[in-house]
Amino acid sequence: MNSAPPPLSTWARNIAPSPTLAVDAKAKAMQAAGEDVCSFAAGEPDFDTPDHIKEACITALRGGKTKYAPTPGIEPLRQAIAARYTAEYGLAAVPAQVVVSPGGKFNCYLGILATCSPGDEVIIPAPYWVSYPEMVKLAGATPKFVLCDDATGFKLTPAALTAALTPRTRLLVLNSPSNPTGAVYTRAELAALVAVAVQHNLYILSDEMYEHLIYDGAQPTCLATLSPAAEARTIVVAGFSKTYAMTGWRIGTTLAPLPIAKAISELQSQMSSNVTTFAQYGALAALTEREQTAAAVARMLTAFDRRRRHLHAELNRIPGVRCLLAQGAFYLFPNIASFGLTDREFSSRLLETEKVAVVPGSAFGAEGYVRLSYATSDETIAKGLARLARFCATLRR
Ligand SMILES: *Cc1c(COP(=O)(O)O)cnc(C)c1O
Repeated sequence: MNSAPPPLSTWARNIAPSPTLAVDAKAKAMQAAGEDVCSFAAGEPDFDTPDHIKEACITALRGGKTKYAPTPGIEPLRQAIAARYTAEYGLAAVPAQVVVSPGGKFNCYLGILATCSPGDEVIIPAPYWVSYPEMVKLAGATPKFVLCDDATGFKLTPAALTAALTPRTRLLVLNSPSNPTGAVYTRAELAALVAVAVQHNLYILSDEMYEHLIYDGAQPTCLATLSPAAEARTIVVAGFSKTYAMTGWRIGTTLAPLPIAKAISELQSQMSSNVTTFAQYGALAALTEREQTAAAVARMLTAFDRRRRHLHAELNRIPGVRCLLAQGAFYLFPNIASFGLTDREFSSRLLETEKVAVVPGSAFGAEGYVRLSYATSDETIAKGLARLARFCATLRR
């Protein structure tokens, strides 16, 4: 008799594990083994969560906020989230449009599940955040990639979007500021894309996770503010992880039209229920204790901006490297195609020989680039840059 268990599901066999988490884990393992690794692989702020947010969570925990909460979030938090969309963007948002989920990643997945059926196509501009294609596949839908290289500032154009449409296209994914490129679309650029999406009756998933990490006076655009037609079809995902250095808390937010928000909440009610109840009180403090939060965010932004400009200038001084100055998030995405190696070879040899960790661009659907995160110390950036320059010099000999 056959004693081996049956094969795992198609879902389990087809999933591609997160390559960014894998590179980060490898760099951390090398560090733990005593190796002097300079890691540019981090996908999270190198700061700790501000104290007043932690205190609010601890108070809630001690006060017995340890039971199930309403699936879409505790009422004061949903109110605070709706209110901040009104204050920041002038949107007439109501709490019933808000769903709080265990991490912005899950908000994205639920948004896709609520709008896409098997056979539907989802347009994903590349370079893309690594999870979108896998989420689309888990919904039984098909990702359609549109490559946007550094010649167009890594931005999707209306013409490229139009060329990718088919009768089965159901959803457009946008992510500004972008992970991995840091690119920030202007309001006019987004309006032109939304016009195409409205004309072809698509849903839009707007991942605005980095809306507050933005430099050079650039302004974030909340996609739902572009027009009533945009608002009626857009699922806005944002959260606490990146802005407030709360990645481990697992709290993200959806703002969506009422029927979509209801569907997302119902899906969540069967998949995860509410976000950890006492953690939601910490998130609430991030939004309501405004002055302390603003001061903490300003400190992080100052550091990110200084590192961004330094890293950008130094990368462009390395012969063979070409790097755009991104206006958002905490990543740069230099072009390394001139060295004649694949980005995977480039990254793995860089890690082996110089112990510098970067993520290959092909992980994000864009061959010939690498992603560097500057959510790391100035010291690591300086040391890592010197090693990278030495490595690149050896490739040109
Ligand atoms: C980090 C990130 C998220 C999700 O963050 P969570 O930690 O799940 O809240 C979503 N989208 C992008 C583009 C990200 O970089």
